[in-house]
Amino acid sequence: MANACAIVGGGLAGFVAHATLRKGGLEPAEIAVFGTDPDPAAVWRVRAASIRQVRMRSESDGHCAPASFPGLAVRAAFRRRSPVPLAQTLADRFHPTVAEFLEHVAELRVETGWDESFRRARVERVRGVEGGFEIDGRGVFPHVLLAPGHPGLAYPDELERERRAVHAYEPHDYADEVEVVGAGMAAATEWLNALAAGATVTSVRRREPERRPLNLPRELFTRRGLAAYHGAAPPERAAFIRRYGAPSYPAGRTWDEPLERAAREGRFRVAAAPNGAAQVICATGFKRGFRHDPLLARLVAEHGLPTVEDWIVLAPDSTVPALTDGDRTLALAGAPAQWSFPAADTLMGAKYAARRFLRRVQAWRTR
Ligand SMILES: Cc1cc2nc3c(=O)[nH]c(=O)nc-3n(C[C@H](O)[C@H](O)[C@H](O)COP(=O)(O)OP(=O)(O)OC[C@H]3O[C@@H](n4cnc5c(N)ncnc54)[C@H](O)[C@@H]3O)c2cc1C
Repeated sequence: MANACAIVGGGLAGFVAHATLRKGGLEPAEIAVFGTDPDPAAVWRVRAASIRQVRMRSESDGHCAPASFPGLAVRAAFRRRSPVPLAQTLADRFHPTVAEFLEHVAELRVETGWDESFRRARVERVRGVEGGFEIDGRGVFPHVLLAPGHPGLAYPDELERERRAVHAYEPHDYADEVEVVGAGMAAATEWLNALAAGATVTSVRRREPERRPLNLPRELFTRRGLAAYHGAAPPERAAFIRRYGAPSYPAGRTWDEPLERAAREGRFRVAAAPNGAAQVICATGFKRGFRHDPLLARLVAEHGLPTVEDWIVLAPDSTVPALTDGDRTLALAGAPAQWSFPAADTLMGAKYAARRFLRRVQAWRTR
């Protein structure tokens, strides 16, 4: 059968969805992936390299294979001839290196036949029609998963056109004097990176950083916790997503000691506003919300979809209720799917959406 499914967005969330559909029995020819780069890690690779990320942030499930286990810990245990990665993964404390993660992505790309499904195209319009969705002029697909990623990097307004400014997720070296705007994980990483490169660093922030573990909130992993989230009133739900996304970085000496040392040496200080350093690094994350994404904004406008603040309202299984029934599925994955799963913007979250999408497709195939 041709064209049972389409995935719009060829990044890591689209890649996880493709691998999940393949494991569920679909052939590469039955899946069309529309994306801007055939390398599913292309966008992520640049961002991770820009902040000099060495180890994966996520817990043990933070890989792209469709099954959670064995994951990357078993491979690491074999390679390092050590049981330590296995013990770490049991406690959800295993963080593979970025190199190990990317190597696994490259292997999975070949194994799953990703390139056979991939079509290079930026999709401008997805429109509900009889029995499915028309994607630009490229055909009608009964099941479509939209995984367009974050809708761009966010800069503070006053720095958007500043020549001194660079975003933390764009490639950059460090000037001798650096101002870092932000108070989350990327900002904290950049303080340490710039100090290690010999720079003098000013942390520009309006409030004290929040310190919390990288691990996802535990309640998201329990059936009861997730049901409570799904049952909450829309304003509470929006507040939960906002709170989950607030900038933070983990507590611990690894972060504090280099900063305390640099502060004693006069190489690290805090300020409320940029003050003319040679370089301003904006560790200010991503633009937020469907309105910043032309494809999603058009989808909402043309189909009159319900939204709450920045989010398209989704069913608990990440599907768009008004456009999903036994004959067709429209689902979201990645950051735009936070209404169904607040951690949708992680690899774990990509699996959440992908597995539920597969269930819909399988139910349709066996009806
Ligand atoms: C530096 C960094 C480190 C991270 N580390 C981790 C980690 O360790 N563990 C973890 O779980 N998560 C991590 N994340 C979070 C998350 O896993 C990544 O952001 C991941 O790349 C999200 O995948 P995505 O497919 O949603 O978005 P992206 O990787 O941004 O991919 C989206 C793709 O869709 C394409 N696209 C967009 N619109 C269209 C369109 N209309 N038509 C066709 N194509 C389109 C884009 O061009 C892009 O190629 C990290 C994020 C960052 C920024």
